[in-house]
Amino acid sequence: MRPAILHRLLALSLSMMAPLAAVEAGEVENLRLWAAPDHARLVFDLASPTRAKVFSLDNPRRLVIDLDDSRMQADLDGLDLTGSAISRIRSGVREGDDLRVVLDLEREVAPRHFVLAPNNQYGHRLVVDLEYPGESAVEDPIDPIEAMIREQEIAAKRAQAQVDLGGRAVTPEPEAVVQPAQPHPKRDIIIAIDAGHGGEDPGAIGPSGTLEKDVVLQIAKRLQQRVNATEGFRAVMIRDSDYYVGLRQRTHIAREQKADFFVSIHADAFHSPRPNGSSVFALSQRGATSETAQWLAESENKADLIGGVDGNLSLKDKDEVLRGVLLDLTMTATLNDSLSIGGQVLDRMGRVNRLHKPRVEQAGFVVLKSPDIPSLLVETGFISNPQEERRLLDPAHQEKMARAIFAGVEEHFRTNPPPASLLAWQRDNGRSTAGNEYRIQPGDTLSEIASRHDVPVRRLKQANELNGDVIRVGQVLRIPRS
Ligand SMILES: [Zn+2]
Repeated sequence: MRPAILHRLLALSLSMMAPLAAVEAGEVENLRLWAAPDHARLVFDLASPTRAKVFSLDNPRRLVIDLDDSRMQADLDGLDLTGSAISRIRSGVREGDDLRVVLDLEREVAPRHFVLAPNNQYGHRLVVDLEYPGESAVEDPIDPIEAMIREQEIAAKRAQAQVDLGGRAVTPEPEAVVQPAQPHPKRDIIIAIDAGHGGEDPGAIGPSGTLEKDVVLQIAKRLQQRVNATEGFRAVMIRDSDYYVGLRQRTHIAREQKADFFVSIHADAFHSPRPNGSSVFALSQRGATSETAQWLAESENKADLIGGVDGNLSLKDKDEVLRGVLLDLTMTATLNDSLSIGGQVLDRMGRVNRLHKPRVEQAGFVVLKSPDIPSLLVETGFISNPQEERRLLDPAHQEKMARAIFAGVEEHFRTNPPPASLLAWQRDNGRSTAGNEYRIQPGDTLSEIASRHDVPVRRLKQANELNGDVIRVGQVLRIPRS
């Protein structure tokens, strides 16, 4: 008889003898560990709901997890501790029936624990998060709407200060207004790439066992390469390996990284194998545009339950409540941008894959709720469809998908570059974008442009350092104040 079974029988007979211990002994069936840059997450898969106590000890640094009336059935040696702050895991029996798990730690951590009820994928779980002080953003959930309002106030103040400054600088001195041009920031356009799911949350699972979290990370990394290989763009990865990030946290990271655009990459499943093709989603505040959209949004929004974000945390999220006209306007503008970029992306994706729907769909995806960052969710394909599952695993197809997504995004930003970006500077042929501008069209002449803008030709030439009358189509002229 194996010691474990003997143990169980012993515990069972003991519990039958003790009149108060009506519940059967708990079991830790499995342990899973996810190492993220700002925290490590240790998940205990439990046979039944179990009470736990978590506390730290010093010299040497340890974290102790005591589980009431439980036994360790998991293989502790099989756990890969790489990059997790944990150097060793031990367990032992305590006070007859209780289980003590001790983590030897390599660094200071702030522990946090909570239990999760069973869902489709997992049973009862105890989640222990080891957050790294100073690196954790999870403990600092900034309300995105408050942050946005604050940023807009600061921007307004700055703009006002510039107007005040400008008022002083422009003296009535027609010949000698030579304002040294501010160096153009030529900043990169930041694309936040969000590979859906991760860690505890596998996402959808294909008929032959392909995990959504794996294929979308591969596509996300290919997209990252495309973005970073293109001058004027820079990619920010919301997650770059196998760990879970809460849905709100994903948009929070994008905001922290000052993203110009956010794209969440998925490969989802429907409850029948038939549906196939790619789709592109933007946020809808009202309702979903189709039944599939509704269904997908619901299943995506469940990720936090599976991925294991503490239920209490979401109570702090207030951005369901829209505050003020300012916000409405921003949301509308952001949504318009999202739909416009979505159209471009869909167009490009349609050249490399069948489209599930011929237009950008809308639904209430939590991950798209940034009030001021245009955001899209791309369903690269239905992993529940056997053919698409195979394609999603194919590196060549993944590359095509990544290129198509980026081609759409790039097209949008080449036409509408943010003012301080390198792309804006390039569009303007190396000219500063301060003041009014005019882009020269075919057939234009200098005198015509001057009279249209009510400035003398001489001043127009002076302001643009033009010696002769030669102008080029596409050249951007600075129009001085008349
Ligand atoms: Zn998904």
